[in-house]
Amino acid sequence: MLLSKYFLPILKEDPKEAEIVSHRLMLRAGMIRQQTAGIYSWLPLGLRVLENVARIVREEQNRAGALELLMPTIQSADLWRESGRYDDYGKEMLRIEDRHERELLFGPTNEEMITDIFRNTVRSYRDLPLNLYHIQWKFRDEVRPRFGVMRGREFLMKDAYSFDVDAESARHAYNRMFVAYLRTFKRLGLTAIPMRADTGPIGGDLSHEFIILAETGESQVFCDQDLLTLDLPGDDTDFAADLSGVVSNWTTPYAATEEMHDADAFAALPEARQVSARGIEVGHIFYFGAKYSEPMKARVTGPDGVERPVHMGSYGVGVSRLLGALIEASHDEAGIIWPDSVAPFNVGLINLKPGDVATDEIAAGIVARLESAGLSVLYDDTDQRAGAKFATMDLIGLPWQLIVGPKGAAKGEVEIKRRATGERETLGIDAAVNRLV
Ligand code: ATP
Ligand code: MG
Ligand code: MG
Ligand code: MG
Repeated sequence: MLLSKYFLPILKEDPKEAEIVSHRLMLRAGMIRQQTAGIYSWLPLGLRVLENVARIVREEQNRAGALELLMPTIQSADLWRESGRYDDYGKEMLRIEDRHERELLFGPTNEEMITDIFRNTVRSYRDLPLNLYHIQWKFRDEVRPRFGVMRGREFLMKDAYSFDVDAESARHAYNRMFVAYLRTFKRLGLTAIPMRADTGPIGGDLSHEFIILAETGESQVFCDQDLLTLDLPGDDTDFAADLSGVVSNWTTPYAATEEMHDADAFAALPEARQVSARGIEVGHIFYFGAKYSEPMKARVTGPDGVERPVHMGSYGVGVSRLLGALIEASHDEAGIIWPDSVAPFNVGLINLKPGDVATDEIAAGIVARLESAGLSVLYDDTDQRAGAKFATMDLIGLPWQLIVGPKGAAKGEVEIKRRATGERETLGIDAAVNRLV
């Protein structure tokens, strides 16, 4: 991608409205623009990261056996009356009336809708277990939208819903999502800690929030230091096997959000291991049994021929919030530092003297070689001064920078810089390309 042809509206000044670093950097790096309180447009650079995050979430859901579908953003109020949540949900729900005066709403979550899909199609335990998910925009009319995409009103969520014949099988479904979440956040380059959590308006009795420790987090959390260095489930994880061992390793050390905090149990930990910190909720999983299937009559026949309400769980990931969380966890004075797995481009190539035959030729050759190896390159071919080019590359945080200038070109050399460490090295062209592919 040529920067001269790209749409990257960088801001030189810090936007006044941004209180935290991730919000500031997303605005400055031209990733998002606010349209109205808590509602954002995603500009090309931001959209690339959003899609990368969604892709990793999707891959891990699929690996764990969940099936993707897509439900609409607009829902009928009648469905929510069946579960009893239409009145309970309160002002966070955006209610809409169509031209026929039918009551609709912009979905804040999808338990009711998926239960409706399920009850219209599935009748027997033979079709279970089933886990269906989508990655779709949600709307919650938050009292205080703030911190950019961290607490938006419109936001992108992955929500999965599991259906099982009994509590034991539902527990396995819960464990699969628990382990999928550990893997997802690890692949995103984040340390997310599962913590015992309150079930809130979703309901149920078993629930964990996945929390990233960060000073700007909105939740107060408490955990055992040991959780910060626990081994994560690898690529060879068998989701068909019993995962209760992994879950128990992760749930035995103390970890709880403020609502579930047990001060005595926490105080029993050696002082050096007591972590009391702020955290960002990036995921939340629930087992709630028959909370929706009972009132909405989603029933299946068991092996004994008896019909019972299906056991359900739901599993959310804040896909758009994760961008804020990633930046909170990984930035410096100069800007964002994207983990390789989600970076909008793998490499930023700076040509210090566009129009110079030698630098143009070298730069074009490198772009071709990197792209044919499957890497994405943002090529700064503009005639900005060098200082501004370096500042832009540091701000947008691509993992690698390659700098091609006339002096090096004469010797067949380029400079390579690792954004995360700031380390620079001068290498021959082949060596530089080989470092990256
Ligand atoms: P919070 O406590 O931050 O208000 P929640 O507990 O209300 O979140 P859930 O219903 O558990 O949210 O939704 C699943 C996930 O969706 C959350 O873990 C979070 O990552 C994300 N999420 C929730 N509300 C927002 C929001 N307003 N903006 C961005 N992401 C959100
Ligand atoms: Mg909320
Ligand atoms: Mg919460
Ligand atoms: Mg929650």
